[in-house]
Amino acid sequence: MSGNLTGRAALVTGGDTGIGEAISRELATRGANVAINWHSEAGPAEELADEISRGGTKAFGIGGDVSREEDASRLVEETVARLGRIDILVSNAGIQIDAPALEMKADEFRKVIEVNLTGQFLVARTAAKHFIEQGVDEGRCNAGVIVCMSSVHDTVPWAGHANYAAAKGGVNMLMKTLAQEFAEHRIRVVGISPGAIKTDINRQVWSDAGQAAKLRELIPYGRIGEVEDVAKPVGWLCSDEADYVTGTTLYVDGGMTLYPGFIGNG
Ligand code: NAD
Repeated sequence: MSGNLTGRAALVTGGDTGIGEAISRELATRGANVAINWHSEAGPAEELADEISRGGTKAFGIGGDVSREEDASRLVEETVARLGRIDILVSNAGIQIDAPALEMKADEFRKVIEVNLTGQFLVARTAAKHFIEQGVDEGRCNAGVIVCMSSVHDTVPWAGHANYAAAKGGVNMLMKTLAQEFAEHRIRVVGISPGAIKTDINRQVWSDAGQAAKLRELIPYGRIGEVEDVAKPVGWLCSDEADYVTGTTLYVDGGMTLYPGFIGNG
């Protein structure tokens, strides 16, 4: 298979549900061994790990909160301990706590920044140390790849979601800065910005016919995304086929960032 990841060791944060689950599967399908981070419940990660393991690659679940410094380090250390190395980090974990800005509590703002932005920094920092220690093995292009899960809301303002948009905007500059800083070590850092993808995070929108129709009006391509729409490009970004791609973001959004309000307008 092109874009093969055989023998690579990957950590996917929030890898047990939604987009993260699809990414865990996609990396395994491409041959990678996968550490599947879970946060609140071990069951889904363990089941997914069993399923992946039956397919022939190694996988295991690993609990931890990416916003806690000791957990963030442990996730990487345990991946290295159990898989022998780490080659790929997909920083996917994320939350929403929505409220109009005038009503948003300081703790609600801080919590989303801590998980969605600080968490990405903490896990990336430990992973990069291992990548640098490992160096570029013979036959490989790079010492490691970090994929930062962002969102169209790193670019598109989102009323009622100031904490989330601020965090994702921050992820964009974190990604670029780490890419600049780590390039000399042959570490690639890339962003992926999904539009509206059907998962638990936005179930109340896509499961309601009226709200789903309104959402589709924002998507020139005319459909709400599926988790595989994001997972497949992530698999490619992690592979050596994307060897010259660093410090940039791939928007996987059915055209949501194309200012759809201008279609047929003048
Ligand atoms: P989801 O709720 O299914 O997944 C979120 C994951 O993050 C879960 O596995 C959860 O356990 C994990 N998580 C939450 N807090 C954590 C913490 N403190 N430590 C570790 N893990 C934690 O939703 P999803 O849509 O699959 O979201 C995955 C990522 O994709 C998020 O970063 C989200 O912002 C981003 N995203 C989603 C969409 C969408 O439309 N679904 C669009 C753009 C970006």
